[in-house]
Amino acid sequence: MNNKPSYEELESKIESLETTLLVLDSLKENIKVNDSFLKMLFDIIPSPMFYKDTYGVYQHCNDAFSKTILGISKDEILGRTLYDLPHVIPKEHADIYYEKDKELFSNPGVQFYETKVKCADGQIRYYNLYKSTFVIDGKVLGLVGIMLDVSEYKKTVNELDEKNKILNSLSITDYLTGLHNRRYFEEIFEKKISLLDRHDHQFSLALIDIDFFKDYNDCFGHQAGDEALFSVGKVLKETFHRPSDYIFRLGGEEFGILFDVKSNKDSYSLIEKLRQNVENAKLESCNNEVSPYLTVSIGLVNVNSIKKNDTLSSKRIYNLVDKLLYKSKENGRNKTTYEDIKE
Ligand code: GH3
Ligand code: MG
Ligand code: MG
Repeated sequence: MNNKPSYEELESKIESLETTLLVLDSLKENIKVNDSFLKMLFDIIPSPMFYKDTYGVYQHCNDAFSKTILGISKDEILGRTLYDLPHVIPKEHADIYYEKDKELFSNPGVQFYETKVKCADGQIRYYNLYKSTFVIDGKVLGLVGIMLDVSEYKKTVNELDEKNKILNSLSITDYLTGLHNRRYFEEIFEKKISLLDRHDHQFSLALIDIDFFKDYNDCFGHQAGDEALFSVGKVLKETFHRPSDYIFRLGGEEFGILFDVKSNKDSYSLIEKLRQNVENAKLESCNNEVSPYLTVSIGLVNVNSIKKNDTLSSKRIYNLVDKLLYKSKENGRNKTTYEDIKE
């Protein structure tokens, strides 16, 4: 039997092969165009991008990645891993990125994290890193990463935070003395009372009023009066300087202190020390009825832990301490009058 193809059969095979070759050429051309198009697209995107295979070898990256992030040419990057570029990726950074890549490969999908990067120009920038595994027919071939520069956004958020802090602090500060204001007093006072409900806790509230301050103003003028208020505020701050002490100017020449003490006796002796410190500051007075110097009268209550469901309202405590202050005035000023609230 003769198995050799006939001349006609060969001619037809050659024709078919020629057609296949033409199709292949056209496909090759298409691939070339698509490849160049993708590379151009990659480079046009201003965010740094890269593609690594499962061995961590850079297979592709765009201009933004090579120029902005690493500051070296693509030729130096492609075909290398994180650890092959120690002059632009310090080992401690490479370790972090390596761990992240490993995490993604062991759990294929998407990954997002924020990172700080020292860029080619020496600037530290913040990036949001979005990475995704590249999968074909269920096989993980590598990962793509895109980096979004969020430095400006972070800067604006930080500036806003700072401004908010300043605004917040201004809204609770008395402009003349720099002490806390009445608005903040109400907030902290309520907090202290609510703590009584939950813990075995006690606190003290003192109301402090400068004696004969109208006379001081009349004698030395309003400006000097303002300065005296500042000086008294300073004595208050110097005497009560623990982080848990809160000092307020409640209005006019009246101050308030909320503070925690171990015992009622401690509370009284501290406040008595404050009263003496004000007199010892030797702010010359105009009315010598009590002292040649400015003095204060004080009402003090020690609020001890209360039983659940007790109705110890802020109003009740405040009225009591105000009454005690009034007693100190009645009894000759430059005095402290105190009471304990025990339910
Ligand atoms: P008392 O011993 O009974 O407390 O007498 P006082 O004169 O201190 O009390 P009074 O309530 O009669 O007067 C308070 C004075 O405080 C009147 C007011 O001019 C002065 N004062 C209130 N606020 C300010 C302020 O912000 N600056 C200045 N300079 N004076 C103030
Ligand atoms: Mg007063
Ligand atoms: Mg007064």
